[in-house]
Amino acid sequence: MSKPLFSFEFYPPQTPEGAEKLAAVRKQLAELHPEFFSVTFGAGGSTQERTMETIRQIKAEGYNATPHLSCVGSTRDNIRAMLLAYKDMGIKRIVALRGDLPSGMASIGEFQYANELVSFIRAQTGMHFHIEVAAYPEFHPQANSARDDMLNFKRKVAAGADSAITQYFYNADSYFYFVDKCRKLGVTVPIVPGIMPIVKFAQLARFSDTCGAEIPRWIRRTLESFGDDSDSIQEFGQDVVTALCERLLAGGAPGLHFYTLNQAAPSLAICRRLGL
Ligand code: FAD
Repeated sequence: MSKPLFSFEFYPPQTPEGAEKLAAVRKQLAELHPEFFSVTFGAGGSTQERTMETIRQIKAEGYNATPHLSCVGSTRDNIRAMLLAYKDMGIKRIVALRGDLPSGMASIGEFQYANELVSFIRAQTGMHFHIEVAAYPEFHPQANSARDDMLNFKRKVAAGADSAITQYFYNADSYFYFVDKCRKLGVTVPIVPGIMPIVKFAQLARFSDTCGAEIPRWIRRTLESFGDDSDSIQEFGQDVVTALCERLLAGGAPGLHFYTLNQAAPSLAICRRLGL
């Protein structure tokens, strides 16, 4: 089996202090020699400049920088301009997403779904970018049905995606089932599990409710029982997530993509326990 690929995701910091802190976080995580660092993009373009600036900094530090690009609420001209700017910067990989229309933003823009963005990137820039797309082992919350979601994922890959990163999940079986179904549908691209370290229960519960990622009852109840005891939450969280990662890698996952929430320690602790 080839060596698993690891990557870390950040959101673009809002202040100079946040940017400084994130640079220190990158330095720590860089010791693990990840494949790339990615930076999220606020749908509707709300973080466009901060995402680009963070990508520029990561590139200047000599790491592989991967911007996320979401198309909802955007125009072809705007997306084209960003693609060309990234190409000029020497960026080679992009995470292409639909995004969610921010509340208060009325117009969906010129793209409806991520498969249209993938086609557009290929039409504008040929094979220059390695395109990552999102996958949902527990299914996207707006999907009409599990089967439709799989077929939509297949369509998105057929539009030209090279690989996929999943929404986070804590149930390894959902990932294995999803990958197996994809293979049966003829989707052969690598599907890398997205990993969310468990740090704060209330925040995790909030995220999970909106994005449709299930926290299994036994994990939820155990975390609840710790109350404000953050040491216990983190210790238990590390045990659970390390065991999940071990199972995923042993079962053939091609790598792991960590949602760092701009913190080094939780992802580092798991990676060390995995023996990286
Ligand atoms: P799509 O693939 O377009 O799917 C969205 C929904 O539409 C699904 O229910 C799908 O089944 C359905 N669908 C798709 N195509 C069709 C079609 N042709 N006809 C009918 N239905 C269809 N959000 C951000 O705003 N910024 C980020 O940086 C960001 N990064 C992310 C990174 C990862 C790895 C993941 C997993 C998610 C990320 N998200 C981000 C969240 C993502 O934008 C949301 O989950 C969003 O709701 C869906 O985006 P998508 O690209 O998966 O959309």
